[in-house]
Amino acid sequence: MSTPLTRRDFLALAATVPLVGAAAPIAAAAVPTFRSLGRTGLRVSEVGMGVMLTSDPAHVRAAFDAGVNYFDTARAYMGGRNEETLAEGLKGRRQDAVVATKCHVLGRKALVVATAEQSLKALRTDVIDVFQLHGLSSRDQVLLPDHLEAVEELRKAGKIRFAGVTTHSNMPQVLSAAVEAKVYDTVLTTFNFQVGEDMVEAARTAAAAGVGVIAMKVMTGGYSMRPAPGLNPYQSALRWVLQHSFVGTAIPSMTTYEQVRENTGVMGTQHTWRDKAALRLYALAVGDRYCRGCGACAGQCADGADVPTALRALMYAEGYGRLDLARETLVGVSLPCGSCAGCSVTCRKGVEVSERMRRAAQLREVGVG
Ligand code: SF4
Ligand code: SF4
Repeated sequence: MSTPLTRRDFLALAATVPLVGAAAPIAAAAVPTFRSLGRTGLRVSEVGMGVMLTSDPAHVRAAFDAGVNYFDTARAYMGGRNEETLAEGLKGRRQDAVVATKCHVLGRKALVVATAEQSLKALRTDVIDVFQLHGLSSRDQVLLPDHLEAVEELRKAGKIRFAGVTTHSNMPQVLSAAVEAKVYDTVLTTFNFQVGEDMVEAARTAAAAGVGVIAMKVMTGGYSMRPAPGLNPYQSALRWVLQHSFVGTAIPSMTTYEQVRENTGVMGTQHTWRDKAALRLYALAVGDRYCRGCGACAGQCADGADVPTALRALMYAEGYGRLDLARETLVGVSLPCGSCAGCSVTCRKGVEVSERMRRAAQLREVGVG
């Protein structure tokens, strides 16, 4: 495994990139900019808010005040409290916001419908704007009759306006199936400067078919990194996503006023060579820790370890600093790595799977130090 860069290493590396005298502009005030979200007809802020890590409704209000109108939560986040936080943050403003939530309970129509009912109550709303089936990773899951019937039933009952799917792995296949289904209006997918051209093409194709594309994991895990004055890799990462005009909105997390200012400040700005330089440095700093969730290693582990999910959980712990979320994600995940004599899984993207999986196993057992 390559050793993650220290701050000193990073600054030395930064000095080799032609940035002197060219501080990246860090916009102080947002210029609210809106885009169409596929065939939904919704006009959404190009920077939306991923509410998953937000526990203070004031941060929702701050994002709204900065021009954000798209808010994404899920029934399962924070044990159900995250939807309530969003509802509180949007008090008196619900009619001017687009509220998206997700259902993690999959497989049976009755369970999906019941989960939507719970979300309606927690969100204190009569209708969910975008209701998403969460974490799908195969065509079969997307096209499962129970899923298709559930969202149609909810739509006919006026409980949801639009339906979508979300995906962290095997994403091009899920996007393609979402188009094929003709029932889903949106896809929420990992989309960042580390994804491959296949993913860019899959998202472009989905958008061309009228499916609204929503980007998540835009910061490739949010690993803490402030390389040098004038360089802001988080804004650069967001600009990389938004330079793709087929993306309807991107939903970075916002848990502080500084993050609200930083993320919303990107609206209406252009991706430049400074961003490319910042992202090059950021990618080097994150190194082999970031799993793109491409799914290419699926089935390699003879003991059935779920590598992409385990590494996503590790990212929540190390990148987001959210041990609770990491542990939640690992519930029920196959992770027999603690006593494995030698890892046979290889990653074509350069992730050092052996070391990462041992760390994920350690996370589940004792936490990450
Ligand atoms: S470990 Fe590598 S091959 Fe496996 S899902 Fe992650 S990026 Fe893809
Ligand atoms: S460490 Fe062993 S159990 Fe874990 S993914 Fe690698 S081969 Fe599978």
